[in-house]
Amino acid sequence: MTEQKKSLQIAIDGPAGAGKSSVAKVLARRLGCIYLDTGAMYRAVTWLAMERQVAFDDMDGMKQLLDTLQLEFEEADGVQRLYCNGTDVTEAIRTPEISANVSAVSMIPLVREEMVAQQQKIAAGCDVLMDGRDIGTTVLPDAQYKFFLTASLAERARRRALELQQKGVEVDMEQLMQDIALRDKKDSSREVSPLKQAEDAECIDTSDLSFDEVVEKLFCKIKK
Ligand code: C5P
Repeated sequence: MTEQKKSLQIAIDGPAGAGKSSVAKVLARRLGCIYLDTGAMYRAVTWLAMERQVAFDDMDGMKQLLDTLQLEFEEADGVQRLYCNGTDVTEAIRTPEISANVSAVSMIPLVREEMVAQQQKIAAGCDVLMDGRDIGTTVLPDAQYKFFLTASLAERARRRALELQQKGVEVDMEQLMQDIALRDKKDSSREVSPLKQAEDAECIDTSDLSFDEVVEKLFCKIKK
């Protein structure tokens, strides 16, 4: 009997602005595996709830929303686009407004149940790299590689500011630091699968590393 090859699973978790998504994208391409941005999925649910004016504490409304939710990732010109019930929300889910509200949505048990189920379905049977907050602890507890990427608050804010400035958004650094710290606090203190380093994850502080150095470091660890 031939033994089936176990698919490759890589989990990258960490606080907001640690550079997880940018690193994960490049790393997944180099490794030839699917990349799943799980934060984008929570952002899309937040976008839809706000669009439909469903209050975050209206559980019937949230359930209805989740029952008909269709999220689809599509690669176009090297950019991963996300469609929510057929609408391209790639840019709409990155606004400060969504960032400010997403933690309130991602702490709802119903929402987490649905997102985790969808994420595990996508991962089934293929080589996958996911980034988020609970990948190593909940979504892919048996992943062969688990990393917890972090950086100082000041450095994370500096990177986020750079990203926003490149998009032409004006940035108030003090406010940005406060927003990031608040989101981390909410994500770490929620009851269901909070932002937490998995016991078997390797923590990598990227404060003094360049983007390329982080990618190379993770790539070498996986290839070894
Ligand atoms: O990664 P990103 O900053 O886009 O994530 C947005 C938000 O989605 C997080 O602040 C968190 O509230 C939520 N999230 C989560 N679990 C994940 C990924 C993201 O709760 N696996």
